Amino acid sequence: MQQFNELNLPQPLKQALETMKFETPTPIQAQAIPVALKGGDLVGIAQTGTGKTAAFGIPTIMRLMENPAATALILAPTRELAIQIEGVWRDLTRYMKDMRSAILVGGYSMRPQLQALRQKPRLIIATPGRLIDHLEQRTVNLATVAVLILDEADRMLDMGFAPQLNQIMRHVPKERQTMLFTATWEKETDALAKRYLNQPSRVAVASASKAADTVEQTAVETTVAKKNDTLLDEINRRAGTLLIFTRTKSRTDRVTKFLASYGLSVSRIHGGRSQAQRNAALAGFKSGQIRILVATDIAARGIDVTGIGHVINYDLPNVPEDYVHRIGRTGRAGASGSAVALVTPEERPLWRAITTLLQRGGSNAPKTVAAAAPSGLVRSAPLPQPSRAPQNRPRQYRNPQPQRHQRGEFTRDGRGGGGGGGSSSERKDRPAQSAVTSPRYWR
Ligand code: AMP
Repeated sequence: MQQFNELNLPQPLKQALETMKFETPTPIQAQAIPVALKGGDLVGIAQTGTGKTAAFGIPTIMRLMENPAATALILAPTRELAIQIEGVWRDLTRYMKDMRSAILVGGYSMRPQLQALRQKPRLIIATPGRLIDHLEQRTVNLATVAVLILDEADRMLDMGFAPQLNQIMRHVPKERQTMLFTATWEKETDALAKRYLNQPSRVAVASASKAADTVEQTAVETTVAKKNDTLLDEINRRAGTLLIFTRTKSRTDRVTKFLASYGLSVSRIHGGRSQAQRNAALAGFKSGQIRILVATDIAARGIDVTGIGHVINYDLPNVPEDYVHRIGRTGRAGASGSAVALVTPEERPLWRAITTLLQRGGSNAPKTVAAAAPSGLVRSAPLPQPSRAPQNRPRQYRNPQPQRHQRGEFTRDGRGGGGGGGSSSERKDRPAQSAVTSPRYWR
């Protein structure tokens, strides 16, 4: 679909799009709308800002126009997103009668929500927690829901809404169209889709494929067992702030602990932390008090910190576009920055997908280097140092020993692993507070 008029849209919708000045569909709209109009389930991989609200809004409106008894339900992780969706719904339905919506979100009084529900809305936009409140009080009935949309599903899961989603699903009819939108594709989103969607079509948009030319990109080939060593080396050879991306909340926690145990100034953000904790971590990082921030993609989405020196991809993202988003955190506004990806043999297919995307987008190709030869001299001879290792000056090392510490990468389930098979935490194998430095990296 190149143009909205190819869709034979009803007049009031056409007129609304004109008023909204939506002339040509965005890529996610062009892909998702024709598929959704056929009535099947749909997975859309797209971030906010790509036009995804109209991508699910337009087919939903068409469905509700066809069947006056049908209603729709949109679940969103936050009230801000719910309010944003309602705004788009109002715009799209401005020339229609009887397309009222009700917004059920926490943090607002129940009374106007009850009033809106009494007016028989065709669409309910809700955050999971507040919808459950209404279900428990029997103030809402979902028996007529013909279209269900899970928006920012990855974020809902990251915020721990899986049990609420399960509960809500018991109240919606089995016969329905379900659309799931997510910015990232993880095993959790995959499991959610398998559970609640019926043979969905999948559409994805590359919202970004070009990396800033000011970012110097390097892929460091390493192994699962050596990943933590490599991370420390890469940190030690750089000056300035660092943003480190990991795949999961537990890996974020583990990497943070690991770095802190080496005296590095580090904090973390992920969806499992409270808003206050996230704000504190971000404020520390912004002010320069904290040098290293470890984050998951989802938590990092809203980070607006200028002047980040380096981005390290401790884990590669599952969706190649996320790599471009990640490294876009550095090298902003013409400033130079560097991006490092730690690539294990297992991650090579992901890395190939990323480099293909970069090539297509016309970005400079990242250079690939092997991880530094294990600086075993240093690693194996932890120095009897004071607890906090100074970050910016070379350290003498002495008395090299042949044995190395086991500092494996974390296994998928978050437990320490690798590093010669030490499945117990790497901390056991390493004297506390040792400092790892490598003279060749000091600048
Ligand atoms: P969303 O990803 O749905 O939050 O949309 C992001 C922004 O794109 C919003 O400001 C929309 O108004 C705008 N937008 C969405 N679709 C179109 C379109 N087809 N043409 C122009 N602007 C659009």
